[in-house]
Amino acid sequence: MTGRFAPSPTGDLHVGNLRTALASWFDARERGGAWLVRFEDLDGAVSDRATGARQLDSLAALGMDPDQEPLWQSDHLDRYREAIDALVTDDRTYPCFCTRREIREAASAPHGPPQGMYPGICTNLSTADRERRAGDRPAALRFRSAGAEVVFDDRNNGPQEFVVDDFVVRRNDGVPAYNLVVVVDDAAQGVTTVVRADDLLSSTARQILLAEALDLGRFTYAHVPLVVNRTGDRLTKRDGAMTLPQIAEFGWSAADLKAWILDSMGLGPNDPWSSRRHPSDWFNVWTPPG
Ligand code: GLU
Repeated sequence: MTGRFAPSPTGDLHVGNLRTALASWFDARERGGAWLVRFEDLDGAVSDRATGARQLDSLAALGMDPDQEPLWQSDHLDRYREAIDALVTDDRTYPCFCTRREIREAASAPHGPPQGMYPGICTNLSTADRERRAGDRPAALRFRSAGAEVVFDDRNNGPQEFVVDDFVVRRNDGVPAYNLVVVVDDAAQGVTTVVRADDLLSSTARQILLAEALDLGRFTYAHVPLVVNRTGDRLTKRDGAMTLPQIAEFGWSAADLKAWILDSMGLGPNDPWSSRRHPSDWFNVWTPPG
């Protein structure tokens, strides 16, 4: 069994990221498994290694040390290129020339697709149309899902069923997309169990479909709830202190933050992981010190 935590190195980890990391760390340790860190740093404009190193420090301050050198995705572009080439060779993709605006307008038309689904503008373009549109702008590459229904079991959330639309595997600036790199890397790193925040639950179906197309097998999934602010929304900078350096200014130590996180899961500092509350009963509202 191997678990992992896969942050984007774009800023200090906050209480929510650290709780997700701890959930995957405890899960791996309880099962006698390995635990890895992977930096999703393909967006070079906002990611950097110094930030990743600070994230490792925060993880270590809460007692989490990866069993291997962390992986940086920007070191593995060949791996993603090969996976994309395999999908193209198998005719599982097509070029997509849509702008965001075209997608938005087609999606809001009467009889448009269900919310958030790609409306299929480029799905069946003729060769002539493709050549014409290729003159306007570079193409993204979409995976042809053919309306597949994906069923999987989430260890925390039970049986799930999603209809998958045609999603991007390579952006039109050439950068491989998140859903592609995540399955390629989970397979390459030998990950068996993905514990992560539940905002990614609906992406899981896309990833399962891709893993099947690339013959990478299936992973076990356990999504955990996000920590939110007092109004129930995702934490943002405006919500005040939530990273280790920020809360330190108010006299909180790493141990204090860890105690808050454990308490939110129904655990005292020395309780075994197996005695935690079910994730659906975790306390999710962060009230910053200060
Ligand atoms: N990088 C993603 C995030 O920070 C996590 C991706 C994953 O765990 O698959 O939300």
